[in-house]
Amino acid sequence: MASDKKTGWRTVLCASGALLSVSSVLAQGKPAADLIITNAKIWTVDKTRPQAEALAVVGERIVAVGSATEVDTWHGPQTKILDAKGKLLLPGFNDAHVHFVDGGSGLEEVQLKDAGSPEEFARRIGERAKATPKGEWITGGNWDEQKWSPPNLPTKELIDPVTPDTPVWVNRHDGHESLANAVTLRLANVTAKTPDPPGGQIVRDPQGNPTGVLRDAAQSLVEKVRPPLTRARRMHVIHLGLEHAASLGVTSAQDKNPPYDDVKAYAELAERGELTVRMYVAPMETDWKDQAKIGVRHAFGTSFLRMGAVKGYADGSLGSETAYFFDPYTDDPKSHGLLSEEMHPPSAMLARLKGADAAGLQLCVHAIGDRGISMILDMFEQIEKANGKRDRRWRIEHAQHLAAKDFARFARLGVIASVQPYHAIDDGRWAEKRIGPDRIKRTYAFRTFLDDGVRLAFGTDWPVAPLSPMWGIYAAVTRATLDGKNPDGWVPEQKISVAEAVEAYTLGSAYAEFQEKEKGSITAGKLADFVVLSDDIFKIPPEAIKNVKVQATYLGGKVVYGGLE
Ligand SMILES: [Zn+2]
Repeated sequence: MASDKKTGWRTVLCASGALLSVSSVLAQGKPAADLIITNAKIWTVDKTRPQAEALAVVGERIVAVGSATEVDTWHGPQTKILDAKGKLLLPGFNDAHVHFVDGGSGLEEVQLKDAGSPEEFARRIGERAKATPKGEWITGGNWDEQKWSPPNLPTKELIDPVTPDTPVWVNRHDGHESLANAVTLRLANVTAKTPDPPGGQIVRDPQGNPTGVLRDAAQSLVEKVRPPLTRARRMHVIHLGLEHAASLGVTSAQDKNPPYDDVKAYAELAERGELTVRMYVAPMETDWKDQAKIGVRHAFGTSFLRMGAVKGYADGSLGSETAYFFDPYTDDPKSHGLLSEEMHPPSAMLARLKGADAAGLQLCVHAIGDRGISMILDMFEQIEKANGKRDRRWRIEHAQHLAAKDFARFARLGVIASVQPYHAIDDGRWAEKRIGPDRIKRTYAFRTFLDDGVRLAFGTDWPVAPLSPMWGIYAAVTRATLDGKNPDGWVPEQKISVAEAVEAYTLGSAYAEFQEKEKGSITAGKLADFVVLSDDIFKIPPEAIKNVKVQATYLGGKVVYGGLE
């Protein structure tokens, strides 16, 4: 099936995954390993052999996993042998939901997430304005007004005095609201007379004037006038993101709704051998015909860059009160949330998803509120009826608040819950006041999903949450909210084990991109993507998992971060 040319070697993987050697055969009748890692505590995520001590790599693939003696039979004169000194070795992490270029950009943007008051928020933006060249925008930020008391949304009046000529466009950490200053509103021509677009809202003061906050689809009023990234800038921020990912042990990432220029940049980097995270891209479903017309189907591409998926949005987010629910918000009885622009009307969304599915594309749909999720499951059922049964691996991205009746439907349709555990310990600080004591029981319901036979894929939604897999595992295992108020777990019956969390972050995410035979576990024949950690997350107290560091990250058998002696 896959063939792989390396200097001095030619290895061919047959359909069963067994490795056949063609040249450079040792006395035992097999090639010598390029790399052996020994004295490791390997948690393989492979149920046929859950634990091992050593592994051997030829080219970019693992060829043996087992005891030190078993693996030593691959030892040849040129083999590099590394001692892991008893450290824990896991498959590389696969983040099933990122916005990679936004994440990379954010590493250099103004940081507002931990600005604990409106004054601090304004101070940081003012500082940044002084250092911003004329004509450039201040963007990013990831602010969180829930950290302020009272938790009121910011307004342009807060920052206008410190940004008289610099356009400011800073987003809330969930991406569903952004604040523009007066300069930006002027550029976008947003005034008291501008109507709310479908699926969006211009937040207004009692006199009807825009406060600067634009919600969901209203954000496109500014996005339309925002200058695009230059090619050089895009390449720069992707490199920053790749370095950051490698330092955290992320070897694969699934990029949701990237613009085509991002995909083009990944393709160039892959060609140059500089793409050190394996990417699976899912552009917007509204453009599904672009992929369909050239015959691209799910997971089409190389081990470094695949496409063939589309991403859509059913609704907004809980934080900005735009997740779409059957029952109204507990703290705002007039509101059920908002359907996205793409769902106006739902029949148009269904027609596009049905077309994309018939073309063989994988469907990944953002749905957060119980009614938003239910409507997408309804559509999946109709699509199955129209297009017939097959292995599709539909995904609901976030899948945050489930109606009790929908867990079974999720399982029956084989829908993957692509979830971000960090959001649970973040939103858990205030979610109950927004949706009440009953709905929170089915919120970030990872335990119920697993018990009901639903597959989980873990990710972060970076830059909405930090890219660190250690924080994700910590969140899923402890459910200890960020404010320290739930040390024994928020809705603790939804906790899962460390082993389950690691599986969701590796094999689960690989399954969600049709790559479970290629990666996601330490198994002979698979890509040699793995990480060595500073501590054993199976042994240390769960609350310490968030502080664990990655000591080394290997991608295709080559070190991309840190290393072993
Ligand atoms: Zn996202």
